[in-house]
Amino acid sequence: MSKILLKGGTVVSGSSVKKADVLIEDEKIKAVGTDLSGEKGSKTCPCPYREGSETASDQLVGSEYVKCNRGGDFNGTGKCHVTKEDLSGAEVIDVTGKLIFPGFIDTHTHFQMQASDCVTADDFDSGTRAALAGGTTCILDFTTQNKGKTLIAALDHWHEMADGHCSCDYSFHMSITDWNPDIKSEIPVMTREGVTSYKVYMAYPNLRITDHEIFEILQAVAQEGGIVGTHCENGDLIVALTASLRARGLTSPSAHPIAHSREVESEAVNRYLTIAHEAGTPVNIVHLSTKQSMDFVRMARDKGQIVCVETCPQYFFLDDSMYDLPDFEGAKYVFSPPARKKEDQDALWDAIRHGEIDTIGTDHCSFNFATEKILGIDDFASIPNGIPGTEHRPVLMYTYGVLKGRMTNQAFCRLLSENAAKQFGMYPQKGAIQEGSDADIVVWDPNCAGVITAEKQIQAVDYTPYEGMEIKGAPSLVFLHGQLAAKDGQVVRKGLGRYVSRKAADLSFRKN
Ligand SMILES: [Zn+2]
Repeated sequence: MSKILLKGGTVVSGSSVKKADVLIEDEKIKAVGTDLSGEKGSKTCPCPYREGSETASDQLVGSEYVKCNRGGDFNGTGKCHVTKEDLSGAEVIDVTGKLIFPGFIDTHTHFQMQASDCVTADDFDSGTRAALAGGTTCILDFTTQNKGKTLIAALDHWHEMADGHCSCDYSFHMSITDWNPDIKSEIPVMTREGVTSYKVYMAYPNLRITDHEIFEILQAVAQEGGIVGTHCENGDLIVALTASLRARGLTSPSAHPIAHSREVESEAVNRYLTIAHEAGTPVNIVHLSTKQSMDFVRMARDKGQIVCVETCPQYFFLDDSMYDLPDFEGAKYVFSPPARKKEDQDALWDAIRHGEIDTIGTDHCSFNFATEKILGIDDFASIPNGIPGTEHRPVLMYTYGVLKGRMTNQAFCRLLSENAAKQFGMYPQKGAIQEGSDADIVVWDPNCAGVITAEKQIQAVDYTPYEGMEIKGAPSLVFLHGQLAAKDGQVVRKGLGRYVSRKAADLSFRKN
């Protein structure tokens, strides 16, 4: 049996920040409490089993009671049962001055993804190592159904690519690209396979489906207690605008944000919310990027709709001036929806401040600049879409979110971990530092400072869109099911990742 006691740190949850020790036993968190020592308590323990209470002697026969001040703050059980025996043999790690977060969850990755002529630079091996090094202990990747094929075939294929290759835990959203009664009958099968979240596309000719199909999918998935996330862009308009830009000889990356304009996104967001309203189901919007999209979400929520919103670091830190960089450098920032304007960034920070955004994923989809982005040198629409980010999401959001006063530590915990765990059916196994949860733990050093560079990154891609950005705060230790798996930004144990079979969505955090 392995035991680790993290001593002297500050535990952060979505609703509290408290000094507490964390006892890990094997793969799980065994106890969280103030000053866990195994010594007979001198302070008053507020839990029902405190010394002198009626139940104490019954509960603690043969073992000494400790000064537990948990008081049910963390798990509400109020149980006080950490004894000297529990602590004996524990490796004690002093984490004084450090923050302790539940392992971060990246809600949006595309590893080992085929895109027309190329495949992403990161596969499940490098992608999950990069994620883990940055403090992410679980990623949700997108499985994509091939047209004419089944969902289970897609799921099997993704398992083949991922199983045995992951260094952090992983699970899959299912992207439906072909909808018919047979596929509908597979939704309960997916539930049994641990897949409770789906994605549909309103853009991309090879992926998109009709509004009618989206309506039916929303209802079929809601029946299983799942949730559908949607890529909201008006696909027809993108095709039309792209053709018109090409006809005018506009083929550089500067044309990308014109073909994927803000209106192209917000129209689709509004339409998707309208479909959800008529279907009477909750929805998730992935990678929301504009002020106007956020306004449509507010209107829907005002009507009583349950709308979850994901956004990504790129929409806070990159803007559309990047597309005009010389030497085709703009191609590095070609992703969809594209980087927007300063006012959109401000609107997203504002939404963060008001608790209107639920999750921050990365949409990590990395293509090498030298060999893959370059394929679009003569035609912006042929530039493979996507950027890397899974390794740097936590440091970016901490530095520019928490330290700039735009979000609290609790909000950071909700946005990067807790809400994702709930929304995607993993809570409290994931997303919580409490008794019984998986010991996926990030010990965060708030004082560690550095600079993001491609040279230092684990992501197997030849650039980072965040090159040169200064960061403060970084994961010093990352535990995955109780094992120290990464230290100071480097993976120390690889290949520990497991598939996470997920349950129904818990959207209680988003009750209007
Ligand atoms: Zn994506």
